[in-house]
Amino acid sequence: MTSTLEWLECSRCGAAHDLSAPRALCRCGGILLARYRLEEAARTMTREAIASRPPNLWRYAEVLPGSDAPVTLGEGMTPLLPARFIAQDLGLARVLVKDEAANPTGSFKARGMATAVTMARALGIRRIALPSAGNAGSAAAAYGAAAGLGVDLFLPDDTPEPFRLEAAVFGAVVHLVRGDIGVCGRTMREHADAALWFDLSTLREPYRAEGKKTLGYEIAEQLGWTIPDVIVYPTGGGTGLIGMWKAFEEMEQLGLLPAGRRPRMIAAQAEGCAPIVAAFQAGEPKAVPWPDPHTYASGLRVPGPLGDALILKAVRDSGGTAVAVSEAEMAEGQLALARGEGIFACPEGGATLAAARRLVASGEIGPDDTVVLFNTGTGLKYPRIPGLRVP
Ligand SMILES: *Cc1c(COP(=O)(O)O)cnc(C)c1O
Ligand SMILES: [Zn+2]
Repeated sequence: MTSTLEWLECSRCGAAHDLSAPRALCRCGGILLARYRLEEAARTMTREAIASRPPNLWRYAEVLPGSDAPVTLGEGMTPLLPARFIAQDLGLARVLVKDEAANPTGSFKARGMATAVTMARALGIRRIALPSAGNAGSAAAAYGAAAGLGVDLFLPDDTPEPFRLEAAVFGAVVHLVRGDIGVCGRTMREHADAALWFDLSTLREPYRAEGKKTLGYEIAEQLGWTIPDVIVYPTGGGTGLIGMWKAFEEMEQLGLLPAGRRPRMIAAQAEGCAPIVAAFQAGEPKAVPWPDPHTYASGLRVPGPLGDALILKAVRDSGGTAVAVSEAEMAEGQLALARGEGIFACPEGGATLAAARRLVASGEIGPDDTVVLFNTGTGLKYPRIPGLRVP
């Protein structure tokens, strides 16, 4: 199984970039997307062949970068769990939870780091750096250690301790910054050592999205190569949403899915940081940075996502929508997933249930829809749930 990665395409101006060197954004500022020789990939990437491969995300090797020599900790092929009590409660025929807590370091950030660190090592990079709200830093620290790379993390100084502990355990250098992830990114790029690092910020670096797109491949495969009607995704930087949308397009071209039917993509955000929801409702093609972002779902505290235009386009093209939920609704969602289904979801996971609940109430999700909720990580790393008394 070999990668059929061929080139990188600018999502804004269409310019082609070759694979000979590490890449960031296009000269025009556009995000680069990986392109593959899909006709060649389709010859070996049949449903039967995929089914016979090991249960991790590298089973989609032909459409992943660096799959000939991956840095892997066994990421991917997480369970797609039927949520029967929640379905009944919402009055829906079928609700499924894609439980990403089962990944290395307990979140879906492992997917993107597996592919990005694989490519960084292959391109001869020795040190990586990134801003993170927590989970991306933990995953980068683990995969960096596995690949023998130096790792520098820029984290908000209120990042919960379990994330900082994890970074320290894996031997990453942690820089605590007063401010949100956007401030962390600017601080990192102004740092005296900036020239020594390769910037692994999501979407600025083109391969993290490739790892995250496997969410789309897995959902389709786990549903017997069909698609759900609705996918609710907790949207911070939006990498997974952009990645899944790209995956559905690729799967149609690979002949793994029939053309022309796609899930409605729902972007769930927090009321305290909802730049995508605001832009969606205003009919704007881009988002305005959110002032003073706050939410206990740290993965959603992304005030100015670089991929805003791609997120908004995917949501609109899919016939989906964007919904903001309150802190209390998120907490209720976490407890409902825990007590109804035995899933200790992160607050971001709770937000997807809260968003689905709102859309059922408004009629935008109907009783016959098959709905996939994302639990993007374990709830164990977050110190508190608003309103929950811990004995
Ligand atoms: C990073 C993160 C998100 C947001 O993911 P994006 O792809 O950046 O939108 C959601 N949930 C958790 C737990 C995260 O760590
Ligand atoms: Zn460009």
